[in-house]
Amino acid sequence: MPVHPFIFIVIFFILYDYFFGVSEKERAEAQKPFREPKDNTLREEHLAFLERYLPALKTYDQLKLKEFQYRVRFFISNVHVIGVRTKVTTEDRLLIATAAILPILNYSNWFYPNLKVVFLHPTTMNIQGKRVLGLVGEGIMKNKMLLSRDALFHGFNYTSDKHHTAIHEFMHLIDMADGTVDGVPEVLMDRKEILPWLDLMHQRLRNVLPVYDEKRKFTHREKAEELARLAEYFFEKPLELKSEEPELFKALEKLFAQPKNPAV
Ligand SMILES: [Zn+2]
Repeated sequence: MPVHPFIFIVIFFILYDYFFGVSEKERAEAQKPFREPKDNTLREEHLAFLERYLPALKTYDQLKLKEFQYRVRFFISNVHVIGVRTKVTTEDRLLIATAAILPILNYSNWFYPNLKVVFLHPTTMNIQGKRVLGLVGEGIMKNKMLLSRDALFHGFNYTSDKHHTAIHEFMHLIDMADGTVDGVPEVLMDRKEILPWLDLMHQRLRNVLPVYDEKRKFTHREKAEELARLAEYFFEKPLELKSEEPELFKALEKLFAQPKNPAV
């Protein structure tokens, strides 16, 4: 019996979607508007827990602390955290949400459009032979983040090494949200501020990259990595960065502290 071409096409599309496409469920999920949290404040014990890991919270004024709690709740209501061979705890969720909110705390209208799920791994991950602590990306990684719990806690526990994997990965997502991965987080910046920022980034790259060749063009990847590393440094050791690189510190302070003017 000959196969009707229509049936063939339908089967082809079903199989194509199954193997290469996004599932209906994922598609519907991606189109859903953000969900408002049921509660705007954190439980007392959860706030106390966060204050242990982020002592700066104690210096926030009432308004800022209120905003912080609401945004952490908002993150938890909108991003799934799935444990990979581990059970996700409330503490895990609170710390992941805190790392996500810190860079965007003063941008009350902005939330990650490119993140739906965080896959939490207990220790390091081995991806194509490489030891990985955190990962975001495009393609199969779209809307996803892989994160190591060890690295998450290390970031909050040890500030002296200036490493904070979770903040690093969230910074990449902010950078990627404008469609290009280039170390210029346009979603958080006014257009007129981008040029001086690029100059500073180039200057900094010249200083930190071991071999600098005048003709060298920095790749987007190098700039994106530098932005993510600077954000770690800024949130872990602000005073050290301020004394080492005052201009960059000022630029970062402006980037994270000044709300974007929607009219620009
Ligand atoms: Zn990176």
